[in-house]
Amino acid sequence: MSVTVRVPAKVNVQLAVGAARPDGFHDLANVFLAVGLYDEVTATPSPGGLRVTCSGPDADQVPLDRTNLAARAAEALAARYGRTPDVHLHIAKDIPVAGGMAGGSADGAAALLACDALWQTGASRPELLEICAELGSDVPFSMVGGAALGTGRGEMLTELEVGGTFHWVFALADGGLSTPAVFREFDRLTEGTDVSEPVASPELLTALAKGDAHALAATLVNDLQPAALSLRPSLADTLAAGTAAGALAALVSGSGPTTAFLCESAAAAEKVAKTLSASGTCRSVRVTAGPVPGATIV
Ligand code: ATP
Repeated sequence: MSVTVRVPAKVNVQLAVGAARPDGFHDLANVFLAVGLYDEVTATPSPGGLRVTCSGPDADQVPLDRTNLAARAAEALAARYGRTPDVHLHIAKDIPVAGGMAGGSADGAAALLACDALWQTGASRPELLEICAELGSDVPFSMVGGAALGTGRGEMLTELEVGGTFHWVFALADGGLSTPAVFREFDRLTEGTDVSEPVASPELLTALAKGDAHALAATLVNDLQPAALSLRPSLADTLAAGTAAGALAALVSGSGPTTAFLCESAAAAEKVAKTLSASGTCRSVRVTAGPVPGATIV
């Protein structure tokens, strides 16, 4: 018997970052949108103990030890229910690794849901979300999907209404960017300046609720973008190539280095993807749309 869970990637349509707190974390106003790039995590009983395997183009960059968020999720659930995490977790990975699309968080949420179903723990949804928040700031959103505003470190979620489908192109870059390194660069770049309190943009929330791509394009913002561009200046070329190809707006996805391009329609996204792909400014491109549901048993 095994359980497979499909889980989406995310893009931050707004990522407002406050000053570093005494504990080193930053307060965020983080508007997440789940998009149709997926990992699948399959949980199978493993009498020999916890084991993680991974397949997919980026599989060699995924740790298979206990630092893998899927393994940590299984251990956290097992500890809470007083059992041993005797499970084999296989990750079929399609979300870029260290790409600013919350791939590790997605696997954590998926493994939690898969083990919960396999072990029939009877955990409530709020309990599962509590474990998600302990695993990492982006994990609760991977479980919930759709669109949501994250506050605190990003882990306190308010689900958002979305009035339509938004079409996106994602440009994948060579190599990853470390999220902590991007936050450190943010701190360096903003040192001595007054960093304002992070608040969700009312215009952006209205654009989402209306499903209005043009209005959303005018309000997309990522406070980590200057830091990501500072660490990876070549991303500016990718952003410019996508905008020149007809995207409504371009931004770095989360901490990067994946870049995201909002398009007017599915057809427009195909066209932007083709031009971006030929531009030589990225490793590969993906066309997709959102919002999509969070972690789901298949
Ligand atoms: P975020 O958008 O949440 O900041 P990210 O998409 O930039 O994250 P991830 O793909 O989650 O980055 O990977 C970040 C690091 O986490 C990897 O370099 C890897 O060492 C580690 N990691 C742990 N578990 C996983 C996993 N299941 N898949 C990928 N990376 C993982």
